[in-house]
Amino acid sequence: MSVDVAANLKMIQDELDSLTGDEADSQPALIAVSKKQPVARIEAALEVGQRLFGENRVEDAAEKWPALKKQYPDIELHLVGSLQSKKTRVALELFEVIHSLDREKLAKTMAAEIKDGAPRRSLFIQVNTGKESQKSGILPNELPDFYQFCQELNLPIIGLMCLPPVEDDSGVHFAWLKKSAGELGLDSLSMGMSQDYQLALRFGATHVRLGTSIFGPRPT
Ligand SMILES: *Cc1c(COP(=O)(O)O)cnc(C)c1O
Repeated sequence: MSVDVAANLKMIQDELDSLTGDEADSQPALIAVSKKQPVARIEAALEVGQRLFGENRVEDAAEKWPALKKQYPDIELHLVGSLQSKKTRVALELFEVIHSLDREKLAKTMAAEIKDGAPRRSLFIQVNTGKESQKSGILPNELPDFYQFCQELNLPIIGLMCLPPVEDDSGVHFAWLKKSAGELGLDSLSMGMSQDYQLALRFGATHVRLGTSIFGPRPT
């Protein structure tokens, strides 16, 4: 299937400009989530200047991105999927930002790897705002303690991330995330996907994660 990635990106960028103003510092970060997408589509995005990309699996990203990063050194890669502790080191080497810090064991492993020389990357705490058993993330009532735990480990937490339940009104979750980040003194909010990013922006998203609206449907 042919997808006009450049046109999709332009449309979304124009929309971001009109929703948030086109001054660089008021603009949310647009993360192009390229998981499972063919490299040709990623290259089409790179050619029109897109530099922030998201992947959800460390192994897939490790296959595609080192070569692309050589070609475009200013690429910023974001891990948006859950991270197995044993892949922590590889993830810290490969991704500039990790959105899925979701448990104590991973926090401890990250702190140990950073102490051992791994890059100290910006981190989001993933919150399971819908308390869904099949989803990872810190439960809402455990967030203050978990954040404290991360601070004691000196981890560079920059904000909160959530993935609202599909059946819910995302706005409730976005509002909760915004309020909680404010209470903790955190500035960044990773929320909003292709279906609900306009809404997320209205609730103050600083990072939106868009896959299909940029790259088209993921090949199965
Ligand atoms: C796949 C994915 C996205 C992008 O989803 P789209 O609906 O294709 O925009 C965003 N965030 C996470 C965590 C994802 O896994």
